[in-house]
Amino acid sequence: MLSDIAYIGLGSNLSEPEKQLELALKAIDAHSQMVLISSSHLYSSAPMGPQDQPDYVNAVCKVKTSLQPQELLATLQQIENQQDRKREGDRWGPRTLDLDILLYNDLALTTKKLTLPHCGMKEREFVLVPLFEISPDLIMQDGRSLATWVAKCNLEGLYRIERDPLAEKIETIAI
Ligand code: ATP
Ligand code: CA
Ligand code: CA
Repeated sequence: MLSDIAYIGLGSNLSEPEKQLELALKAIDAHSQMVLISSSHLYSSAPMGPQDQPDYVNAVCKVKTSLQPQELLATLQQIENQQDRKREGDRWGPRTLDLDILLYNDLALTTKKLTLPHCGMKEREFVLVPLFEISPDLIMQDGRSLATWVAKCNLEGLYRIERDPLAEKIETIAI
């Protein structure tokens, strides 16, 4: 039964990032133990960490799954590998695909391989804004609303990629 809810953060800044994210969403939805419920627009922003790398494209999706958290992590890492993710190099260095589990039901968990909710999400506008887009009513583990978290983050430098069949244009987000 696909009864558990997870939110997944997607990111890429190599080898046609927008295509990488589209492929990853398809791979997630094609998996027999996951179904895609919704996904945000794509957003672009300057990289975290090392600045000598291309801008990132990020998105968030919501899935229903029958995979347990550790299995979900392993499955997402397989999808990263299928899309040629290299694991050597700097922390937060360039990559074709990064898939992080942001939330898994209401679970709070800290193990060597997995921390839930994802530990960096609170400070990352490129995670919070797309998450807010698809689930504006979420209450976070500290009892505050997602809206409160979003209101605290710096939106400067985050752009929503508006899909247009004829041309891609990038507009500053307004929420
Ligand atoms: P960050 O986690 O700060 O966004 P990153 O995504 O660049 O950094 P990775 O190199 O992709 O980091 O992952 C390092 C390790 O993080 C993974 O091998 C995984 O075991 C661990 N990890 C812990 N919690 C999570 C989570 N919620 N989702 C994905 N990976 C996680
Ligand atoms: Ca990450
Ligand atoms: Ca990761």
